[in-house]
Amino acid sequence: MLRIRLVEQSVTGQPEFLAMLSVQNQLAYEVETSQKERRRKTMSRKLEGKIALVTGGSRGIGAAIAKRLAADGATIAITYSKDANAASAVVKAIEKSGGKAIAIQADAANAEAVKAAVEKAFATFGRLDVLVNNAGTAIPKPFEEATLEEMDRVIDINVRGVFVATQAALKHMKSGGRVIMIGSAVGERVAAPGLVPYAGTKGAVKMFTQALAREIGSRGITVNNVQPGPIDTELNPAAGDWAVPQKAATALDRYGHVDEVAALVAFVAGPESSYITGANLTVDGGMNA
Ligand code: NDP
Repeated sequence: MLRIRLVEQSVTGQPEFLAMLSVQNQLAYEVETSQKERRRKTMSRKLEGKIALVTGGSRGIGAAIAKRLAADGATIAITYSKDANAASAVVKAIEKSGGKAIAIQADAANAEAVKAAVEKAFATFGRLDVLVNNAGTAIPKPFEEATLEEMDRVIDINVRGVFVATQAALKHMKSGGRVIMIGSAVGERVAAPGLVPYAGTKGAVKMFTQALAREIGSRGITVNNVQPGPIDTELNPAAGDWAVPQKAATALDRYGHVDEVAALVAFVAGPESSYITGANLTVDGGMNA
């Protein structure tokens, strides 16, 4: 494997050396990514015939998941709350690559809209095999400045939205179905300040996953929680104010890329993960190591 080897040098610990390591880590990621992409294009389409609904699929991690599941053969429905142009760009990108997709406007905090979105996906494609509960938000700030309204907002989207979408989707899922949460590495352990309400909701998602996995395992449906570490998106920009302690808390000393999360979701959505359920799978550059 073409991997850049980092040579131990006596200058370890100096700021220039650490900066160089960070650049090399990024480069190593880019080299590995292009190799993986080439390999993936020659592999079989493991999700052929499957229908996947990705909530919050118009930007960031959700958009990458939608495109990756489509590349693996699935037909895709995405939801979004505000940005219709971004949602339509994801649909067009999937169609341009020979796939099929629709976008449905549904605020995760609006239970009726979420239920209607699940029904629309099912009615349009005639089945539902994979639900990715990706829609989520954070309002980072010191805990003592956080308001009750902000707490309610993150609970409504990150927890209540997951409850509603999952209950609606389970009505249509058959054996082999997959429920995949996008939790967070901070649902396990929190290495950066400003995330108290958010971490509380992602901890809830973790236990929601474990409890539901036990309750519906007999139906042959798996429920898993993919927990990203710091991923460069509009929600958590690698150049943002809150980025420095997050990057420093990773073993790989870099932010992750949306495609690195999508790759794990594609595995969990696929046939090779059939005996994995109730699992919290981190993709966090070693933040929780
Ligand atoms: P972004 O803000 O970059 O993208 C969020 C996506 O969700 C957009 O498509 C947005 O579309 C949609 N969305 C936002 N609010 C709602 C809502 N109320 N109802 C429906 N859709 C909504 O976020 P990320 O991609 O960074 O995050 C995606 C998920 O990953 C979240 O659950 C987040 O908690 C989780 N995560 C992110 C990490 C990170 O470092 N980025 C780390 C760990 C977990 P629109 O603008 O149209 O509403």
